[in-house]
Amino acid sequence: MTLRPSWVESANDPAHPFPLNNLPCGVFSTPGTAPRCGVAIGNAILDMAAVEEGGLTDVGCFHEPAWNAFMARGPRAWAALRTRLTAILAAGSPDRSRAEAALVPMGEASLHMPFRVAEFTDFYSGRHHATNVGTMFRGAENALPPNWLHMPIGYNGRASSVVVSGTPVRRPWGQLKGPQYDAPILAPSRRFDLELEMGAVVGVPSDGPLNVTEAQANIFGHVLLNDWSARDIQAWEYQPLGPFQAKATATTVSPWIVTAEALAPFRVDAPPREVPLLPHLADDGPMLHDIDLSVTLAPEGREPTTIARTNARELYYSAAQQLAHHSTAGCPMRVGDLLGTGTISGPARHQRGSLLELSWGGEEPLTLDTGETRAFLEDGDTLTLHGHARGEGYRIGFGACTGTVLPALDREGDPA
Ligand code: MN
Repeated sequence: MTLRPSWVESANDPAHPFPLNNLPCGVFSTPGTAPRCGVAIGNAILDMAAVEEGGLTDVGCFHEPAWNAFMARGPRAWAALRTRLTAILAAGSPDRSRAEAALVPMGEASLHMPFRVAEFTDFYSGRHHATNVGTMFRGAENALPPNWLHMPIGYNGRASSVVVSGTPVRRPWGQLKGPQYDAPILAPSRRFDLELEMGAVVGVPSDGPLNVTEAQANIFGHVLLNDWSARDIQAWEYQPLGPFQAKATATTVSPWIVTAEALAPFRVDAPPREVPLLPHLADDGPMLHDIDLSVTLAPEGREPTTIARTNARELYYSAAQQLAHHSTAGCPMRVGDLLGTGTISGPARHQRGSLLELSWGGEEPLTLDTGETRAFLEDGDTLTLHGHARGEGYRIGFGACTGTVLPALDREGDPA
């Protein structure tokens, strides 16, 4: 697949995240206007409400501040819209003058949550991450739990704390207990961390078990996802039911949903299976994506340092396998369900997608380009996730997924 030329000149830059091949879905507003659906193209947003009013499409749900209503129309509608927008925005399009009137400069827009999150489930599908964490807590011999090679394990998270990129994140309080404390204390987390993940957005509801092929067809698109995690809260609370308050503060997603169709040329095979998967989770062709991922950390007022570089193909289970597993017991899935992959780490040290792994439990702090060190996040730190797939002469980007850590507050709202 090569670059599809557009009359939106900025979209033809081979390094631009939003060429005509991408067409990611977001929600935006400009001063004095209500949030509505938009599609990124080069340095602009195609205002989908204006496209409708101009008679270029006839879909009828783009004035809403979320893509859920459109997702609910199903895969044929998704494909039809992509075909139509590709024609409207292509170089030489007869619709250019009408569409030009619907373009909003990206710099004038505020970006909002692109969809209403129905429910949020977070998986643990990265083998390198699971191995690193397991080695730290259980030793290298028992690093992977016995179920890990047989199914993508996960937990039910909270939709209410999913926020869009740019939303500040307040350092959480929680119960802490460890070797350094005689008894549990209630205090601000001292081991606040990121998790570099991707999220899949379910676009088709279901009510009963799905096989992997069916699950794949129900996924509308993907986002970058930072699953903020308080490691000290987690270490004390997680047995035997798993993470709870450690993951309840915030989950940040990128502002654009990159559609499954835009990512289809970048599908790659999963790694060789150490043990065969049961039939309901068996691989159905290439289902992972070759997407370069990176994380930067910028201390307050300082330059960012890239602290991790990895790739989404390092996962062991695909989003389709996560969704198929999620439905095994009959769990109904809804439009807008968000499935996090789990932390995506690679085999090398610089490919680790969390500070827990990068600093090896805090024992080996990182040195930033500014000369400062970090074992875990400090107040004022800004974390930014980036991701893009590389085509021939073009890229498919997600937009930055960023958040700044604010200091913990006491019950009176004063700094803790
Ligand atoms: Mn996670």
